[in-house]
Order: sequence, then structure tokens, then C-alpha cells
Amino acid sequence: MKKTKVIATIGPATKDKEKIKELILNGMDVARINMSHANQEFLKYVVDTINELNKELNTFVSTMLDTEGPSVRVGHLEGGHAYLTKGDKIRIYEQEVLGNNTRFSVCYNHLLESVKVNTTLKINDGLVELLVLEKGHDYLLCEVIEGGLIEEGKRVNVIGIHLGLPFLSERDKADILYASQLHVDFVALSFVSTHEDVLEVNDLLIDSEDAHMTILSKIENAYALEDLDEIIKVSDGIIVARGDLGVELPLEKIPGIQKQIISKCHHASKVSIVATEMMASMEEKTRPTRAEVSDIANAVLEGVDCMLLAGETTVGRYPTESLSMMTRIIESAEEDIDYYALLDQAMRTEKQDTTCSLAYSVVECANRLKVATIVTPTMSGYTSKKISRFRPTCPILAMSPDMETVKSLTIYYGVYPILIENTKSFDKMMELSKNKATQMFELAKGSRIIITGGYPFKEVKHTNFMKIEDL
Ligand code: PGA
Ligand code: MN
Repeated sequence: MKKTKVIATIGPATKDKEKIKELILNGMDVARINMSHANQEFLKYVVDTINELNKELNTFVSTMLDTEGPSVRVGHLEGGHAYLTKGDKIRIYEQEVLGNNTRFSVCYNHLLESVKVNTTLKINDGLVELLVLEKGHDYLLCEVIEGGLIEEGKRVNVIGIHLGLPFLSERDKADILYASQLHVDFVALSFVSTHEDVLEVNDLLIDSEDAHMTILSKIENAYALEDLDEIIKVSDGIIVARGDLGVELPLEKIPGIQKQIISKCHHASKVSIVATEMMASMEEKTRPTRAEVSDIANAVLEGVDCMLLAGETTVGRYPTESLSMMTRIIESAEEDIDYYALLDQAMRTEKQDTTCSLAYSVVECANRLKVATIVTPTMSGYTSKKISRFRPTCPILAMSPDMETVKSLTIYYGVYPILIENTKSFDKMMELSKNKATQMFELAKGSRIIITGGYPFKEVKHTNFMKIEDL
């Protein structure tokens, strides 16, 4: 069973219920809806479909809203697209004009005051590159440095300039509030620049009395890197958004940034997620490249919590195959993780309290005794998250009577969350732990498990017991 989690984006290639079911059966832990391409109707459809499938399959797959984020986009073009030729000059207007290969407008009316002569603009995933030559009274005159296709509605990345756009657009606010009403479990924030951006969303959720949504910050430009430590502090987790990161920064910087973010997240006890082009070649082919296999395996070896599939499952020809291939690669790479190094690192960086000491002992003991699973009965998910942080070699069964807690744990490394009935009795909880572990992992008689948590249930906030049981 894989311990590293997989988030798959739902799109045209996977929108049918049967397709989503196949994704679940092949290892999808979280379904992501990307609001750069989807609307609220689609969001609701995916959430409803996941809820139905969870009932049918007795699974606990959760959902993630990914915001559009602050963005400058290409305005209307004749025929919807235009081909820009290298060396040509092009004018960009703030006022609406019908664009072609000599001019187009953008949907942001402060672009002129923000950019400078020599600023680079990139469109279409960085393939088209424009250089600002001159600022006219109502337009920017640019030279096409790299030519190619542009389409209306595509994002314009303005390199190295912090635009004055508000972090949360009215649309993003409405999407987050709607997602909260639908009980979406995670919100991924596109183009976070500072920790204040994250706090703004936190305030929005508090004002709307939402206590359940987990906040993940996407790191996709140079500004976010300057405030990385603070962003990590105020977020529940970080997504290394390699797509835009590779447009905003030189491509060759991505591996180092990825390594740094995964390590900082592990030190800070936060979730880390690697996204984009994990298996891009599988959009067209039935097999990934060797380089893609190595990339996924290396992220696992670095100790990441989750991988995120985008194009592979939204527009790719082989979404189910991508999922099953990713599961295979993860399972194999997990055999080579240096679990003791990660355990040691967690011990050195964790707050030295009761939970930390006990979590360390539980995981050390589980690894030494080669137990089948660590069971964590939990109200808030706290014990399960701490055990996950110490990276045991076995899976963690998280049992909670609170559905929001169950769903919030799907992104944590190694955690298999399930819903249980409420019980106050310690003995009943031990019985339930043994039964559920046996069922879930098909354990044979004589298998050994560890049960850990905080007792009395609901009353203590820390982890205070550990019990070793032979089935
Ligand atoms: P996106 O974010 O898919 O919303 O652009 C991910 C990335 O940029 O890598
Ligand atoms: Mn992005």
C-alpha cells in the first residue's frame, strides 16, 4: 500500500462518474478542481460525485479547491487566438481592443504603471516571450523574443514585477466561500506572495465561521520565496507549483527550490506537495519517461507527503493509467526511503513535549518490531499528524468519529483515515482498533499493531498512551 498521497485534478478527460471511480480505485486520495479552468457548477458536480462514490465504495476521498489567484489575462482575439512571430513588434493595451498578431488587450488596467522598459512578459506556459521596449500613452510596445500561439483568456506572467493586484479577487472570495459551504476539505491558494495573503484567507474563513478548511499555499513566483518561512508558518501545507515557478524563474532553479521547500516543511511539521508535469508524457503515451519515473521516486525519497497530477488527469489520454503507474512508482520508491534519517530529523525539530516524545517512541518501536500498522484513534487528527511526521515504515490507521477530521487527513503521508462510531470506553476503542486494522489491511492472526492516542478521549489534547497488541 502506498503511503505517499496522490491528488488528481478532475477535468474533461475524467469528469464522468465512472472515470472518477476508476481514479479512486487506482489510488486517488484527493480530487482537485482548478478554478482557472472550472466554474462553481463544475465544482459542485465534482463534490457531489465524490460524495456519492465515497458512499458506494466506502472510501474517504476528499476534495480540493484551487483558486484562480491574482492574474493578468489576454483579452479578446480575432478567432480566439493569434500567432506571434519572433522579431515582430506588438502593442498591449489596457483598454479593450479586439486583438490579433499586432496588438491585444489585457484585463488589468494598471499594467502600464506597474511594468518598466525591459520587463519580460510570458504567455502560454512561458513559450511566448515579449520584452517591453517602450511605454506609450495607452499601450506597451513590445518585441516578440520567442514567438508562438497565444489564446484569449491565457495568463500573462509579468516577470519580476509585483503587480498591484489584490490577492483575493471577488471571484476567488466567492469561490472559497462556496467551497466552504460545499464542505470542500482543502483550499489551494494560487500565487501567494506573502504570509499576509494567507492570513487574509484565514480571516475570510473565520468570518464565515468555517473551521474545517485546510489552507495550502502554492509557491509559484520569486516573491513567495522571499517570505517562504513566514508563509510556511501560517499555512497548513505548501504546494511546489512547478508549472508557473518554471515560467517565473529559470527552469534550472526548480529542483533546488523543491528540495528546500520539502525540507523546510518537514522541519516545520507542515505538509509538502509537489505539482505539475510529474508524468506529462502520459498525456499522450501509455508509459512515462525514465526521467519522470526518477523525478517521482526522488520526491518520495526526499520525504514529500503528496504528488499532484494535473494535465495527466484533466486532458490526458490515459488518466487511469497515470494514476496506477504513479502508485506503482511510489510503492517501489518507498522501499528505499531512509526512514531513520527522517525520524531523527523530526525528533530534532519537533517541539519537545509529551506528544513528541511518545510519537517518537511509537514510531521507533513500530519500525523496530516491524508492526503491521499504527492505529491512532483521534478527535482532531493531532495524534495522526504527529505520527505521520515521524514517518513510520508501516501505514497509520486514523480513526475518528468526526467526518471533517477524517477528510482532512487524506493528504498526510502514510495516514489511512476512516470514520468510526463515537466511544468513550478505552476497552471498546482497543477492540475497535484491532477489528478495523484487521479489516483494512487484511491482517493475519498473530500480526502485531500499536495503538496510540490521548485518553480520556475528547478531554486530553495531547497523546499519552501506547499499547502494543498481537492479533
Ligand atoms: P496551476 O498551478 O495548475 O493552477 O497553474 C500549478 C503550477 O503552476 O504548477
Ligand atoms: Mn500555477
